[in-house]
Amino acid sequence: MTKITTSLFSFLLSVSLSLAQQTYIHVGGLIDGKSNQIRKEVTIVVESNKIVSVENGYKNAGNNNLIDLKSMTVMPGLMDMHVHLEGESNPRRYLERFTMNKEDVAFRAGVYAERTLMAGFTTVRDLGGSGVNVALRKAIDGGWVPGPRIHTAGKAIGTTGGHADPTNGIRKDLMGDPGPNEGVINGPWEAAKAVRQRYKDGADLIKITATGGVLSVAKNGQNAQFTLEEIEAIVNTAQEYGMNVAAHAHGTEGMKRAVLGGVKSIEHGTFMDKEVMELMKQKGTYYVPTISAGRFVVEKAKIDGYFPAVIVPKALEIGPQIDDTFKEAYKAGVNIAFGTDAGVSPHGENGKEFIYMVEDGMSPMEAIKSATMSSATLLGVQDQLGSIEAGKLADIVAVNGDPLKDISLMADVAFVMKNGVVYKSGLAANIPTR
Ligand SMILES: [Zn+2]
Repeated sequence: MTKITTSLFSFLLSVSLSLAQQTYIHVGGLIDGKSNQIRKEVTIVVESNKIVSVENGYKNAGNNNLIDLKSMTVMPGLMDMHVHLEGESNPRRYLERFTMNKEDVAFRAGVYAERTLMAGFTTVRDLGGSGVNVALRKAIDGGWVPGPRIHTAGKAIGTTGGHADPTNGIRKDLMGDPGPNEGVINGPWEAAKAVRQRYKDGADLIKITATGGVLSVAKNGQNAQFTLEEIEAIVNTAQEYGMNVAAHAHGTEGMKRAVLGGVKSIEHGTFMDKEVMELMKQKGTYYVPTISAGRFVVEKAKIDGYFPAVIVPKALEIGPQIDDTFKEAYKAGVNIAFGTDAGVSPHGENGKEFIYMVEDGMSPMEAIKSATMSSATLLGVQDQLGSIEAGKLADIVAVNGDPLKDISLMADVAFVMKNGVVYKSGLAANIPTR
């Protein structure tokens, strides 16, 4: 080979290398989302937005980028299956629907989305807002604002006077008569229409409020609020459009109807009894506990004037029960996916749920898996997310130390990569972030 062709060859080689620039991540300990063991001293190779290989030992990065996470424990991007990015609890929240424009809600939701991502949550399910959450998903996917991948339900569906009726508790002349478009249905045909409207609006899934709830301005926090027929109409219509249904439920009867009607997940599940647990196991229904929400409302209900008076007794009764139900459901072997109900509790504190789950009897590894592989499976994206493997999307987070020894580290995520882009670089100060 002549000198000229050799240098031409090395020039072409360097061009092709720079086109396919890779990032080598040196990982001290790896929780891959599948194995129950931490793998020591691993190199993850990322190209563009994908993981291309996971190799033993610290591989030489050569001309590629190197990220040194040798002092950290690395895991798949965390997933929270129950958030509401449009808002957050505060004593004036019940006034906001009269004072905030959609544009105000949207700008604030961008802040909450960024906090969520920086806490290590690279994917969330938004289980109900005004519909701004659909626009937020678009803005994040378009790279206009930083935030997690969002699977959104748009506006939740309830029945007249039910937990998701947006006009509960307001003056009669402002109340009007909301219908399927606003997410209020009565009867199977209206149920189908509400689902089709959400599909048209751009929702990814459907959320129903199968029973009363704590934070709506209404007396009952537990009663069944849909007939079985209505739930079946929602689930069947949703399935025709490729969507699943998540059901908010505190009381036993409404929860049972939701499971029998074919919903994919039960949210909160407060008064879940043995019969419902068995039904959920038979039907493969997921349980999303939201212990964070339970603990938050109990704490705030004790502060005079924080919530409207009608809410206080509901919060004090339902809040503490969620911990006990989680313990029982876990022992019974119900499928558990991670969810906080952030928006009730503060956005960005999602990681505290891991601490509560471990306090209530789950092992740290299982808690982490509930927020990775189990949640990915609930969303139906287990081929793309939920584990660190070749071919998956590069959603990678890390904590300083070993979370299996100290679960509180999960509330302090130090490194965040989503879709191959570093958003938070922790100790590694030389890594360019977005
Ligand atoms: Zn919720």
